[in-house]
Amino acid sequence: MFNVNKIREQFPILKETVYGKPLVYLDNAATSQKPQAVLDSIIESYTHYNANIHRGVHHLSQVATERHEEARKRVARFINAPDSDCIVFTRGTTEAINMVASSYGRKIFDKDAEIIVSQTEHHSNIVPWQLAGEASGLKLRVIPLNEDGSFDMEAYEKLFNDKTRMVAVSGMGNVMGIANDVCELTRIAHKHGVRILIDGAQMIAHKKVDVQKIDCDFFAFSAHKVYGPNGMGVLYGKRDVLEEMSPYQGGGEMIQNVSFEKTTYNVLPYKFEAGTPDYIGSVALSKALDFVEGIGFEDIHAHELHLTQMLMDGLATIPGMRFYGTAPTKSGVVSFNVDGIHNLDIGMLLDRMGIAVRTGHHCAEPLMDYFGVKGTLRASLAVYNTEAEVEFFLEAMNRVIKMF
Ligand code: PLP
Repeated sequence: MFNVNKIREQFPILKETVYGKPLVYLDNAATSQKPQAVLDSIIESYTHYNANIHRGVHHLSQVATERHEEARKRVARFINAPDSDCIVFTRGTTEAINMVASSYGRKIFDKDAEIIVSQTEHHSNIVPWQLAGEASGLKLRVIPLNEDGSFDMEAYEKLFNDKTRMVAVSGMGNVMGIANDVCELTRIAHKHGVRILIDGAQMIAHKKVDVQKIDCDFFAFSAHKVYGPNGMGVLYGKRDVLEEMSPYQGGGEMIQNVSFEKTTYNVLPYKFEAGTPDYIGSVALSKALDFVEGIGFEDIHAHELHLTQMLMDGLATIPGMRFYGTAPTKSGVVSFNVDGIHNLDIGMLLDRMGIAVRTGHHCAEPLMDYFGVKGTLRASLAVYNTEAEVEFFLEAMNRVIKMF
């Protein structure tokens, strides 16, 4: 039985107060809070299992290595990857996308090549491609949106031509919280003979991900958005393309043999993991994934959808309310503005009442340009948010609006 109070008890930070008021944390799309199991794991690892991993002859190093590799298997199971060798640990979504752009993109971006992204992308899924394609004159083609914020899939298909080399799109946007049809996006990309990367930074905490069912070539996510630690992330890639790619960074771990004349590279996934890996973070991530699976995506989705609906219904009664993104697959994220009032002013007043929301462009300036605004207010939910918090937020919004 889904019990939000039991879930909340696992998050010590939710008992904090801000300016003497109970914290109402509605900034989950930026980062999620961490359950006790994740916090304990970090302490436990440093207390009992801290030693640099791989090639260590001593006991501690071997145990730390085993734990790290078990965590890799845990991640593979979570997203149903066929093989844990296809799970590359990164510092986050941003690094994962940069890795693909740099290692795969640079190789396939010939002169005047094109890549398809969408109007909703986070800067992390725009700028790495621009950097990788700078020298070859890469052009970004953009999937336009329907009125409700969903992708215009007919227009998407029309963007393909003989210069298209790749598709890179988010599974769920961080501004509107709309889940995109990743299976169909992939099917169409493959029909046109190009590979697709799914930016799963938001999707990972809200929807069951099955990379084999989606059939995507790459899937990237950050641990901190799914109740895990900061500075840890994952790139999943199909084996054939990962094999084809050259290393992203050079250093320890990623080599087989080094000499001044020639260096050979390690096997997957180590080829992409230069330097000492975050073996503390990987284990903590595996605990976060246990936490999520312990609840189950069906209950997570039902709960978040219900609260999203409450948020939308309540906010809709405020005069001058403007929502961004209303597609039926929206859940967990509500972006809005109130006519004549700056989003930052509202955000600062909400903060004084203990409510954490995000204001500004949310690292999605092209989407803000499309809406014709500089920024929005964004309330974003996690599994531990409650009806009472949403009601408190709505009351606070009504009070704030009256102040202007
Ligand atoms: N992509 C999306 C859709 C995001 O929401 C974010 C973070 O907000 C990112 C990419 C970047 O994630 P990170 O900063 O953890 O690398």
